[in-house]
Amino acid sequence: MNIVQLTKLLSYLLISTFILVGCSDDDDSPINGNPDQIANNLPLGSGGTPNDLLSDTTFKSLTIEIVAVEGFEPTSIAIENFRTFLEDRLNKPDGITINLRTVPSSNTAPFTIEEIREIEKNTRTLFNEGDDIAVYVYFADGSNENDSGEQVTLGSAYKNTSMVIYEGTLRRFSRSGPRAPSLSTIETATLHHEFSHLLGLVDLGTPQQSPHESINDQNEGNNHCNVSGCLMQASIQFTSGIMGMSEVPRLDAACIADLQANGGK
Ligand SMILES: [Zn+2]
Ligand SMILES: [Zn+2]
Repeated sequence: MNIVQLTKLLSYLLISTFILVGCSDDDDSPINGNPDQIANNLPLGSGGTPNDLLSDTTFKSLTIEIVAVEGFEPTSIAIENFRTFLEDRLNKPDGITINLRTVPSSNTAPFTIEEIREIEKNTRTLFNEGDDIAVYVYFADGSNENDSGEQVTLGSAYKNTSMVIYEGTLRRFSRSGPRAPSLSTIETATLHHEFSHLLGLVDLGTPQQSPHESINDQNEGNNHCNVSGCLMQASIQFTSGIMGMSEVPRLDAACIADLQANGGK
């Protein structure tokens, strides 16, 4: 369920709107780890984690640990947009902290999700502690191994508190043509989209308040939203606004209603 149709991309480029990306969600079984870290090693959307992230029932604060490969750090604009997005949706009265540090390249690009899990084991230092919930975000210096000329993965939420952004791919797209969205716009959209999967969208640990989950070719729900223009569509759409600046897609009313019903704002 990760998708970017490059042919589609090219045609959309011509009319200054385009669909980029997709993501892949991965809910394999948890990795083995320190027993104290089990709460951070659950399958995506499980263990009540969406509610833990959205509400202040169990966790009053959130710490995001961003680990970026040197030279592949996110833009500061994207980080500030991400902070605003989190503050708008999450009930965390004791605050949201975003830590960023860099690490050397693993030299293993392109990546399988198993390789990303391995990198997380080696680089993640923050786990839930007391009433602070921790989320890990890795900015990878390359692409997903399954990318092809026709479909590209920008990011993936692969465990209940873990996600990867394929920053190498994002940078390539930002340079793909005069109408390409800026790097900070693509980063912001990908961060918001993947984090919204951690928040349980769509029907991934946060129940739907109205039916709006999109379906795949096999007629199965694919944990994305069927509302045109929503951030949680399977392929993120960037539309050009005034001055040709591309805008970051937002959650539609149906997705926000789901989050609010599960403890969010
Ligand atoms: Zn997605
Ligand atoms: Zn939606």
